[in-house]
Amino acid sequence: MAETILDVIAPEIAARAIEIRRDIHRFPELGFEEERTAGIVERELAALDIEHRRVAKTGVVGIIRGALPGKVAGLRADMDALPLTERSGEPFASEVAGKMHACGHDAHTAMLLGAARVLQASRHRLEGSVVLLFQPAEEGPGGALPMIEAGAMDDPKVDAVAMLHVDYRLPTGTIGFTPGICNAAADEFYITVEGRGGHGSAPHTALDTIPCAAAMVLALQNIAARETDPFKSVVVTVGTIEGGYRNNIIADRVKMSGTFRSQDPTIREALEGRARRILEGVASAYQTRVELKVIYGYPPVYNDPAVCETFASYLQQEHPRLEVASPPPTMGGEDFAYFAQRAPGVLVRLGIFNEARGSVHPGHSPQFRVDEDAFAFGIETLVAFARGVGGGGVRG
Ligand SMILES: [Zn+2]
Ligand SMILES: [Zn+2]
Repeated sequence: MAETILDVIAPEIAARAIEIRRDIHRFPELGFEEERTAGIVERELAALDIEHRRVAKTGVVGIIRGALPGKVAGLRADMDALPLTERSGEPFASEVAGKMHACGHDAHTAMLLGAARVLQASRHRLEGSVVLLFQPAEEGPGGALPMIEAGAMDDPKVDAVAMLHVDYRLPTGTIGFTPGICNAAADEFYITVEGRGGHGSAPHTALDTIPCAAAMVLALQNIAARETDPFKSVVVTVGTIEGGYRNNIIADRVKMSGTFRSQDPTIREALEGRARRILEGVASAYQTRVELKVIYGYPPVYNDPAVCETFASYLQQEHPRLEVASPPPTMGGEDFAYFAQRAPGVLVRLGIFNEARGSVHPGHSPQFRVDEDAFAFGIETLVAFARGVGGGGVRG
């Protein structure tokens, strides 16, 4: 007989999660500085009698061991805020100038604590175990890899992993699954072109880097326009160009920076080599020298299509009140990607759009608000994933 969690316990569970969320929201902390937030997580887990340990400086791993045999579900929540001054008008707005929970990570942490409460209370009939992954520094420099390296997914070994992210594109009461690649790899590049300076009236005595840089910007567009399958996504954006001294001096050096965005790993791997070949070819034509440096960011998140499909149908069957949607991928980044490389994973988008609550702004905006009516749905979704994995409903 299907049980609707919300009918039984969620009003108090959601109310408590909202209270914790507002507390975290008032005192936001940036990546690897989440001491107060991690302290709240530890305090709550201890009060629930859930075993837990610190990892990766401010990360916390909790383990709920079900009484019945089964698989191990990982549930991940990020805890860090952004360097931004809040202008949401919420009564519990940030009390720290220049720091704000503008991506909803406060809500993610509080909802995972709510799910932990439900799962721990029903431990006697829980199949398998649940690993709670409270992660620091998602906005940078990245807390997922240090947690994984500290063994967060190894003991017990996680069989499938999920996370929630609030999403203003979907109305409250809706959750979204995007099977396959659901966002982008965002990598940075830096170019330096070196020539030889001279008098602006005598270009033949110098090696001018300005026309060379202009040719490089145009030539780089060939990566997207001529070298990539038009059905695949790639972006090559040169965002800055700096060079030169005065109108009548030939610039001996130009520096440029930009971003590569890609979704397909083979396209991503080829980007640096393609850019280098094009840049060196242009530099040789203009008799300059060029240097390219690429700094790799998070890989794209791969949502395991089998997990998405079985979890979505499990939810529809067990929790018919939840609306399930398939929003398009985004070109944003998310270091949950690393967890989803170690175990089949799914990034679940939790709808928070609600005009009446002013929950209409995108993440990273100073006006960002989270419709707290979404908490009950978020907690329900996390609990369902844990029960579905353990019982084999999600990963048989
Ligand atoms: Zn963010
Ligand atoms: Zn985020």
